[in-house]
Amino acid sequence: PMPASTPFDSLLRRCKISTPNAFAFCRMIGKVAVVTGGARGIGAATAKLFAENGAYVVIADILDDSGTVLAESIGARYIHCDVSKESDVESAIQLAITWKGKLDILFSNAGIGGTASSITNLDMEKVKHLISINLLGNVHAIKHAARVMLGCGTKGSIICTSSSAGIMGGLASHPYSLSKAGILGLMRTVACELGVHGIRVNCISPHGVPTDMLVSGYRMFRGDEMTPEQVVKLVGEQGSLLRGKAATVEDVARAAVFLASDDAGFITGHNLIIDGGYTSAIASLS
Ligand code: NAD
Repeated sequence: PMPASTPFDSLLRRCKISTPNAFAFCRMIGKVAVVTGGARGIGAATAKLFAENGAYVVIADILDDSGTVLAESIGARYIHCDVSKESDVESAIQLAITWKGKLDILFSNAGIGGTASSITNLDMEKVKHLISINLLGNVHAIKHAARVMLGCGTKGSIICTSSSAGIMGGLASHPYSLSKAGILGLMRTVACELGVHGIRVNCISPHGVPTDMLVSGYRMFRGDEMTPEQVVKLVGEQGSLLRGKAATVEDVARAAVFLASDDAGFITGHNLIIDGGYTSAIASLS
């Protein structure tokens, strides 16, 4: 164990890390991050891994109970934030500033799944609702994160969660695919604008991560009787080249830590696909 006098002692206690080897993973010491959709699923795993790597994390979500419990367990702050409301997002970003005086990382990850519908029967109110969260939520978050990063002179990292559904057809509902493809376009244009200031902007595109959202999606398309275990098995068999292995939330979180950290210091305007090779395999068949 490290001697109690080490300058990293309080960090280790805050992150509940007990082995010296953990230093190898402390890639975000002192960084300040906002994670939208951080109360569960991919966002929660990423908020946890950010904190374990030494970051101060603001979790912004609408699931107040689980967000608060998670924040307390990892030394983070929680704020109620509906990303479809610009003022909520601005408040979440401002919390980072009032708490730690800067913002280094935005993980803009909040999202909802779409409902199954033929293009001819689309319910436009549902489309607008999904776009207000999955697409405009990212616009709100990037806008306000960029403002404060530019104001603080931070060479920050902005990461948005797109999806395999943003680059391929047939995987999800029309409005969901629309929103995820839109995020990719937004990411690229913002990367062009902010690169001159040293701010990196990237996407991650997961595929088939068995979270609440994915299980609900499978139930919608394949029947309510599907259990989470069956979803994991099916995704492993059909959604990955890795011998039946489905992605975990930690697989995605590690990619987000990489893009957030200085290890990815020359990577911007990039979409990092985390899919066990699934989209490459489909592309090679065509
Ligand atoms: P999830 O449902 O477990 O998590 C989504 C989180 O976003 C929840 O905490 C939820 O409360 C929050 N959220 C929803 N609406 C919100 C709003 N209006 N304001 C703030 N927070 C809101 O699902 P997940 O799989 O962890 O999804 C995280 C992201 O990953 C989403 O953007 C999703 O589209 C994307 N994604 C997931 C998969 C997958 O296979 N699970 C694949 C590709 C992309």
